[in-house]
Amino acid sequence: MIYRSLLPLLTFLLLTRTAGRADSPGDLPLHLPPHPRLMLTDAEVPAVKARLARAPFLQARYRLLLRSADGWVRKGVDLPPRGGQWSHWYVCKRDGTDLKTVSPTEHRCPSCGTVYHGWPYDDVLLMKTHNGYSSAVRDLGLAHRLTGEKKYADKAREILLAYARAYTRYPLHDKNGQEKVGGGHVGPQTLDEAGWLIGISRGPTWSGTVSARTNGRRSRPACCAPRRRRSGGTGWAFTTSRTGRTRPSGWWAFCSATRSWWPTR
Ligand SMILES: [Zn+2]
Repeated sequence: MIYRSLLPLLTFLLLTRTAGRADSPGDLPLHLPPHPRLMLTDAEVPAVKARLARAPFLQARYRLLLRSADGWVRKGVDLPPRGGQWSHWYVCKRDGTDLKTVSPTEHRCPSCGTVYHGWPYDDVLLMKTHNGYSSAVRDLGLAHRLTGEKKYADKAREILLAYARAYTRYPLHDKNGQEKVGGGHVGPQTLDEAGWLIGISRGPTWSGTVSARTNGRRSRPACCAPRRRRSGGTGWAFTTSRTGRTRPSGWWAFCSATRSWWPTR
């Protein structure tokens, strides 16, 4: 989709702009524009609809978006009982072949037939489920913005509230199952946590699930896992402020988007 192809550039621009404004969490901008303010504003929606009306290939993509959103509306919200694991674990130890999922607890190598059970294989599937909910929040929020239909916003809100209840109960863990800096609550690395947060972060502002009151209390825990990663690590999850201090980009995206997001409906 167009918005997916533009996502890396938009994310870069957002993070760069945010990093230049503030040097610490306490310095985050106080005067933020009104919601929706992340990636797609209300002022941009008419232009998107005008392009949709004259571009058949965009209409096909739009139908796919609505199909995804409608599918999520029909589903219940059943979050995994814990965070997920590293996708690179999902290979055969003997020959490196990608495993095939037989069931949530059975994973088979198509090359040699070896069957794997338990950790970390079961938990890799949980990560896919978490990322599916992140994509759901993104699609539902965008569908709501473009159609105005409340059902999409309601389902996004349901998912966000479920994560608000579950997030702090998910243990901090890394890809080796250890409670260590560099891990996450949902994902096993700060990269995974930040990637999951991108979709989740767009949900509140796109779905209208925001409060007029500033209340960052609930957003703090999701910020904390990526933030624990120390500077000097790899750069994929971080942005560097003008003072040279590193910040995890997922944390920046989340806080800049949702600083006043908490739902009151
Ligand atoms: Zn094998």
